[in-house]
Amino acid sequence: MMNLTKPDEKIAILTCMDMRLDPKKFPGLEQSKAYVIRNAGGRANEETIRSLVVAHKFQGAKAIFVIQHTDCGMMNFTNDILCDLLEESLQTAVYGGNGWYNPVKEGGSRAGQYINFQPIRNLEQSVIDDVTYIRNHPLISKKIPIYGYICDVKTGELRPVQQAMQIGQVQE
Ligand SMILES: [Zn+2]
Repeated sequence: MMNLTKPDEKIAILTCMDMRLDPKKFPGLEQSKAYVIRNAGGRANEETIRSLVVAHKFQGAKAIFVIQHTDCGMMNFTNDILCDLLEESLQTAVYGGNGWYNPVKEGGSRAGQYINFQPIRNLEQSVIDDVTYIRNHPLISKKIPIYGYICDVKTGELRPVQQAMQIGQVQE
């Protein structure tokens, strides 16, 4: 596997909190010095922009890698499904043949309607959308490259998402 960065190059990685992913071992990035931002799905949003700005502005990160992954749990629900589940109960749900359900049906809250949980409908599109969001954010320098990859959790390989790569290019 080719190195994706120079040795000891500082970078920022936005990736999923899934415990099967080890950001220190992403192929091609092992020799970099990475500031790792993790959340459910590895999705970009205003909160992740905060960390990306600090990683670049104060820590000198030279590139941003958005790395989402196959078999992500964020592909197994929609905002509506999660809001309905939360309204019924706040306890852990169970994934069964027909999707998620609550074994306990009490003590819920309607407050989920105020949150976008950023579930993923299409993995490639999600990487494209998030690279686009970061690229277009007014606080992210146009001079910093943004790369979009999908990690295959079975093989550990990183597959570039070509459209995201194009959008994430440095702009002169
Ligand atoms: Zn995930």
